[in-house]
Amino acid sequence: MQNAHLDPVHFPVKIINNITIVRYREQTTMTDNQLRIAIPSSMIDEVVRWYHLVLGHPESQRLYNTINARFSYPGLSKTCQQYQCPYGCGFDWTVEDGSEWANFGIQSSDDNGYSDELAGDSTN
Ligand SMILES: [Zn+2]
Repeated sequence: MQNAHLDPVHFPVKIINNITIVRYREQTTMTDNQLRIAIPSSMIDEVVRWYHLVLGHPESQRLYNTINARFSYPGLSKTCQQYQCPYGCGFDWTVEDGSEWANFGIQSSDDNGYSDELAGDSTN
């Protein structure tokens, strides 16, 4: 947050309950109500992880939109796109090859290997 001291016009500081909040003013014409909180790089991973969990494991665009509504961080969009969920959700909801079920590894009811696997298990 050294930018706050170097550039108070674009990074105005506000102190709330003895906590220093650095905000980002993208354009000098922006009013106080339009400013977003600047996330320090030391906190960005935790912020993205927390929002991804709280939002119910959304895809990256929704994650970005939600965080970006209140916070600012350089490269936030890319950071959201590159986020790797530790729970391995990682669905690519944007696939256009038929259905979103492809994200679950299900191709069709007849050719998914699932019933064969079950049949194999039942004979053991
Ligand atoms: Zn997830």
